[in-house]
Amino acid sequence: MSKRKRRGQGGGRVTEPSRARSTSSDRGRDGTDQLTLPRPNGWGGSTSAATVRPGLVALRRSVPASIGRPPYAESGQPPAGRGPAVQSPAIIERMRVAGRLAAEVLIEVGAAVRPGITTDELDEIAHDAAIHRDSYPSPLNYRGFPKSLCTSVNEVICHGIPDSRALVEGDIVNLDVTVYHDGVHGDTNATFLVGRVDDESRRLVRETRAAMYAGIAAVRPGGRVHDIGRAIEEHADAHGLGVVREFIGHGIGEQFHGGLQILHYYDPRADTVIEPGMTFTIEPMITLGSPTLRIWDDGWTAVTVDGSRSAQFEHTLVVTDSGAEILTVTADGTCAADEVDV
Ligand code: MN
Ligand code: MN
Repeated sequence: MSKRKRRGQGGGRVTEPSRARSTSSDRGRDGTDQLTLPRPNGWGGSTSAATVRPGLVALRRSVPASIGRPPYAESGQPPAGRGPAVQSPAIIERMRVAGRLAAEVLIEVGAAVRPGITTDELDEIAHDAAIHRDSYPSPLNYRGFPKSLCTSVNEVICHGIPDSRALVEGDIVNLDVTVYHDGVHGDTNATFLVGRVDDESRRLVRETRAAMYAGIAAVRPGGRVHDIGRAIEEHADAHGLGVVREFIGHGIGEQFHGGLQILHYYDPRADTVIEPGMTFTIEPMITLGSPTLRIWDDGWTAVTVDGSRSAQFEHTLVVTDSGAEILTVTADGTCAADEVDV
């Protein structure tokens, strides 16, 4: 999952999510959201209209009592403490395991993507895959999120709720997996192609992945957090793509969302010095059109206002003495992101 940026952090050009939120006047007679806002000027690329509507959300899945739960599992409220930015070697070692398990779950659920499967069926696969690995699916009841996986299709930027909608040939779908194992979280996502996908969407997915890796390559001890955002934004700019600003990467460890804030665009105020042992995610959300967003009435689903497609990739990493080590990879170093064929 991504962290919602705190107000007053990182630039004043942001449309506050509360103002972008849809209102009753946005909703059609059938109760579904409809686009009523004009398309902003200055963006080329896709002119595709919105394709995703809310479906039916099934009942919450259960987790066996034998599996260790994060503090918010029952209440929905994570603890107030944000945890340290620099983790102990013992926690990093536990995060290496949680990261590996998250990578395995993402590969497993990603392999099930095909036309006709519902996002709720993908949720079931991710839920069962986490439990099979003695892990709690971290999104489940995090701030009340109703499911174990985030499924974000086409113009959905992030935090899509798995529901009764079946994937359609030509869709792109981001699957965002986080697992909680041995007291720590591992958080990773990738955008998958559903059958045959148009060239412009493939380009979006390819360059979003490249933007994430450009951000990871910018991590070095002694550098600043804004080096990461600059690298990502430069890559997106060079390809005529938008960068979402309202959702950001985050510190991670014993907390799902720690105190570190990792912007995916350049802001000189993001001047925190990067230190060995810091653990955080890099998870840019990149759009074919304008990155301006609004939130569905469910309070979670973020979509582009212009209906253009959005893609995302995410890894959890630890800062080393020379750069970054990606934690969300399998034992042989593979991950779902690298297998997406674009
Ligand atoms: Mn995340
Ligand atoms: Mn995530």
